[in-house]
Parts: sequence; structure tokens; C-alpha cells
Amino acid sequence: MKVFNTLSRQKEEFIPLEPGKVKMYVCGPTVYNFIHIGNARPIIVFDTVRRYFEYRGFEVNFVSNFTDIDDKIIKKAMEEGVEAEIISRRYIEECKKDMEGLNVKPATSTPLATEEIDGMLIMIQELIRAGHAYAAKDGTVYFRTKSFEEYGKLSHKNLEDLQSGFREIKVTGEEGKEDPADFVLWKPKKEGEPYWESPWCDGRPGWHIECSVMSKKYLGEQIDIHAGGEDLIFPHHENEIAQSEAANGKDFAKYWMHNGFLNIDNKKMSKSLGNFFTVREIGEKYDLQVLRFFMLSAHYRSPLNFSADLMESSKNGLERILNAFDKLRSLEASAKTEKFRDCESREAAEELVSKYEAAMDDDFNTADAISAIFELVKLSNSTTNEESSREYVIYLRETMERLCGVLGILTEKKEEILDEEIEAMIEARQQARKDKNFALADEIRGKLLEKGIVLEDTREGVKWKRA
Ligand code: AMP
Ligand code: ZN
Repeated sequence: MKVFNTLSRQKEEFIPLEPGKVKMYVCGPTVYNFIHIGNARPIIVFDTVRRYFEYRGFEVNFVSNFTDIDDKIIKKAMEEGVEAEIISRRYIEECKKDMEGLNVKPATSTPLATEEIDGMLIMIQELIRAGHAYAAKDGTVYFRTKSFEEYGKLSHKNLEDLQSGFREIKVTGEEGKEDPADFVLWKPKKEGEPYWESPWCDGRPGWHIECSVMSKKYLGEQIDIHAGGEDLIFPHHENEIAQSEAANGKDFAKYWMHNGFLNIDNKKMSKSLGNFFTVREIGEKYDLQVLRFFMLSAHYRSPLNFSADLMESSKNGLERILNAFDKLRSLEASAKTEKFRDCESREAAEELVSKYEAAMDDDFNTADAISAIFELVKLSNSTTNEESSREYVIYLRETMERLCGVLGILTEKKEEILDEEIEAMIEARQQARKDKNFALADEIRGKLLEKGIVLEDTREGVKWKRA
């Protein structure tokens, strides 16, 4: 398998630190709102990377954090007049619901920054002791970038250029820096903000130290893959490397993977441009599977443009795949012959499986992998009919299921229920209640629930919503 490594800017053969195992850390979202569809890209992409490693027989230890202390969270908490923790917990729960809708496998561990403060204090102390960090008069602790010779190796930046760049930017409260390129490990609390005690001042950690510490605790000092969106290359991941390698005296991650950005109608997504969508909003219009399928239609490192037209074509593409499954399922039920017939063979499908694997082995090229699935759909549609053997249709279905499963595409079609059908069932339930046939009324309620329809009996009558 080949993986593009941001460190070397090349595709490299994937050789795990420990045979058969992958230790992987993905920087998770900052939780101050519903996640937007840009945040969903790394979530979907790296879940797919994990699934493919598993398909290839690796045991994957997949860690992804939530950044639950941050200026944006504190700002939102102040606006609402609640504790920061209320905001972060709320949006962690909402994010988990979105992840479920996107069929993302739960991580092996999901650490929260605020629960790992002790580990951060220890690493900061170690860095100070070794001369890699220092505390300024006001209690802010900075990383001494000059002390880490390889600073800039991930983003391919040169420390001197960075120093002159940073010299122009004066950040209030950061006057105690020895060098303009130094960055914060610990900062003093401000009025009304959450804080933790430390040897330097009451305060909170800088963002970068959180991931260095959580990755070490849950995966060890050296890991195979560290991943996130390309905006994290600098400064976040560059700083993580400096902290972790200075503290542990070992290379941190072997492979650094970064997804390209998601734009909307060819523009950068931003709230001020009014082209900003949360996953939840998209979920009101589409099955979130369509969003997942759309995200995987491009190579993960390419920029990806989101538009209504492209979503529609993803919806149609997915529909084509699901229809092929429906056909195979119904042929399976009605097949008259059990065993492979002479005209049926595994060969053509196996070739497409190899094509799919070659695409995924080549730095997770999901775009080409999806083309192989479409070819398989075509093969299936053109080589099966009422005469097909049960063995052949099962073989095709299971093969397609396996390949779609790696992409996290569920192959059971969700039964759609129309508003009119719902209304009719509610009416039948009302009648059953009038007739005092409560068993039937409950049965109807249960049937609706199975289809994701929740009923609420109110004074104004029965209300319903899609769960
Ligand atoms: P944040 O909550 O800003 O820390 O972002 C969480 C993750 O989403 C990071 O890996 C970001 O790189 C990624 N991300 C944010 N915006 C986009 C976008 N428009 N396209 C792709 N990835 C993004
Ligand atoms: Zn991180």
C-alpha cells in the first residue's frame, strides 16, 4: 500500500511500526457549534482509510479527540451565559449524532482535552527542564522553536522566514516571547474563563500541546499515521512534531496525511459569504449517505467543490448502486438454480475487485475505487436475470457489499415513507383507539417508529416527525 506523506511530499510504501497494526491519530473538531460539511471531510476520509486498513487485515487503533476548550467555545458560552462545558458537551453529542448518520465507525478512543490536563502539565514541565520551553513573567509558557533543529520539516518552511514573518505580527499578551516564532504551551486565564492550576499560573493549555499529549497517552510515543485537514499542517502539526519529538526524543508520526479543502460553489466556505452548511442542514435534504458518497467521489488530497448539482449526481449514482443490490436480493429470493451455471463465473468480478484494490492501495484513491464499483454494478445488471443461479447472485451481492462497506456505504435501501402514507396510518391508529382496539393502535405506532416516524399525542391532536 502506498500513502502520500506530507513529510516527504511523496507517496511511500506503508510499513507499519508493528507488523499487522496501525496506530492512527486524527485531529478532531473544536466543539462550539454543529459541525460543518468541511469538518465532515476529514471525518469521512479517515474513517474510510481506517476501514481499508481493516479490509487489508490490519488491526487499527484509531484515536480522534474533541477540542473542548478553546476561545470560540468560551465566547459561545459567554453569549449564552452558561459554562463552557455545557457548550462543548452539547456539541460533542450533536457531532456524534452526525457521525452516526454518516456511518462513521466509533473511534477506539475519543479523548477530551479537558480530561487530559495532567498529562499536558507533565509534558510542559519536561520541555522546560530540557530547555525546549520557558515561562515568561506573566506565567505564559512558550515553546523555544530555536531549540528544535528540525522545526519546519513538515510544512517545509524555514525558521528564519517564519521569524521575519512573525515579527510583523504583534499579539497582545505575548510580549514575553524570546523569539517571534515561539508558540504557546500554557496561557494565563482571563476574567470569567475556565482555568486549571499549574506551576506557572492559573490558566489553560495551548491547542497544539493537547494533541501531542493525547496521542502519546492513547497510542504511545511513536505512531504510524497522524492526520487532519491541510490547514493543520502549519502551525498545528508542525508544532505537535516539535513538542512531541523534543519531549520524547523520538520521531513522532511516520506518515502525515492531510485532506484537501471542501469549497462551496468554487468559493471558500464562510459564514460571512452565506455559503456555510452544517451536516445537520444537509441531512434535512439528503440521506447523509449521499454526502458521504459525494466526499469520496474525489481523491482525498484534491480540493473538492460542493454544489447542489454535484450532490444530485451523487444521489443518482448511489441510487444506481442500491438498485443493483435490490435486483440481486430479489433474484436471490426467486432463483430456481442453486449452483453456478456454466455461463457464470467469478473471473470478471474478481478483476474488478483487483482494480478496486489497486486504486485503494494507491494512496486511497476512492474516486477510482468507486469507478470499479460502478463497473461491477454494470456487470451485475448485464449478467443476471431470472435464470441466474442463487450462488452467482449471492456472490455478486457479497462482493459488492464488501467493497461498498470499506467506503462506509450501507447497501440496504432505506424504505421511504410518504407523508400521505403516514397520515393514513395515523388515521387508522385513531380509529383503532376509538374502537378500543389498543393492541392494534400500538402496533401501528410501532410500525411507524420502525420507519423512523415518531408520534406525539398533543391536545391539538397527533403530531408526527421524522426521527
Ligand atoms: P476545526 O474544528 O476547525 O479544528 O476543524 C476540524 C477538522 O476539519 C480539521 O481537520 C480541519 O482541517 C478540517 N476542516 C475544516 N474546514 C474544512 C474544509 N472546508 N474542508 C476540509 N476540511 C476542513
Ligand atoms: Zn490536533
